[in-house]
Amino acid sequence: MTLNDTDELSIFSISNKELADLPEVEGDTVICERCGEQHKIEYGLKKLDNGELVPCKTLGFVSCGDNKYLVSLHGRRITF
Ligand SMILES: [Zn+2]
Repeated sequence: MTLNDTDELSIFSISNKELADLPEVEGDTVICERCGEQHKIEYGLKKLDNGELVPCKTLGFVSCGDNKYLVSLHGRRITF
């Protein structure tokens, strides 16, 4: 996994093999790497062709203080 972080842009890349080797997220909370507390994972919604919005686990974030952090990708635990 590669992270390129500048003042204007943050980009990360991960290969399919790296992603497959990551542990699956268990439950709906994770231990926060910043504060050590447990936070609920927040997922986005996907819009179906009929307009219905359904939960989508492509990206999972936690809120810590005033910030949000990426913690999961396709159900796999991401750490930086
Ligand atoms: Zn936190």
